[in-house]
Amino acid sequence: MKIYIDGKYYDEKDAKISVFDHGLLYGDGIFEGIRIYNGKIFKIAEHVRRLFDSAKGIYLDIGMAPEAMEKALLETNALNQKKNGYIRLVVTRGDGLLGIDPFKCPKAKVFIIVGDINLYPQEYYSKGIAVVISSYRRIPADCFDVRIKSLNYLNNVLAKMEAHRAGCLESIMLDQQGRVAECTGDNIFIVKNGIIATPPSHHGALEGITRGEVLALASTMGIPAQEKTLMRFDLYSADECFLTGTAAEIMPVTMIDGNPINDAKPGKITARLMQAFRELIR
Ligand code: PMP
Repeated sequence: MKIYIDGKYYDEKDAKISVFDHGLLYGDGIFEGIRIYNGKIFKIAEHVRRLFDSAKGIYLDIGMAPEAMEKALLETNALNQKKNGYIRLVVTRGDGLLGIDPFKCPKAKVFIIVGDINLYPQEYYSKGIAVVISSYRRIPADCFDVRIKSLNYLNNVLAKMEAHRAGCLESIMLDQQGRVAECTGDNIFIVKNGIIATPPSHHGALEGITRGEVLALASTMGIPAQEKTLMRFDLYSADECFLTGTAAEIMPVTMIDGNPINDAKPGKITARLMQAFRELIR
């Protein structure tokens, strides 16, 4: 494995960053999780665009242009020769002092890891998963806008642990007003009366690349889809429910807080979208 750090390549055992890196000390940084399908980087331009938007959101000068970032991703991918894999692209504020001050960090640090994808077991895609609604609310946008894909994931980590305590793999997070936002590492969709709905990102959801793909697929397939405010009741009374994310792709949800969705079976529209997505990545 060859890991990119600031323009140079290192073997895994030599790929190290400083304990003074503010990404580590303060979670001061941003990242992307990207898939490699058939040796190709999926939606590279979209991921690079989101990364640079996140950088703007935290006043971070990445120190390289988007074109150079794409080139670094392509080069790191070519060096590692993974047919199917996962890329973790991270940009931190860089090395600084033992104080929060980002202005004492002269240069951002960029690293790229090309690794294996940790997939959900295949059976979940045919059976669906059970999820719970988390008691941890999404951080409101006036505290921190979660459309910034930052290294601050503790809110999500706590909600994920809550899911595990309930015997589930994922949990759904609501915002301060009880509106559905997203899951800890995935976006959420419901289907009701043949219409697909997902919360608008300003209700505390990342603008997922997979979410965008699903909305585009729905449009080409002639399935009506909308961004819509969703409450707990909309989840419980949904005809179908599914999650989307780079790692999960499209995952059916068949139980929410113990309430079966579609008699605890993946729904028809979910299955059609899963099939269309599989064709897209092939
Ligand atoms: N929400 C959160 C909190 C995420 O971390 C992710 C990415 N894992 C997503 C949604 C899904 O986004 P994408 O489809 O771009 O992977």
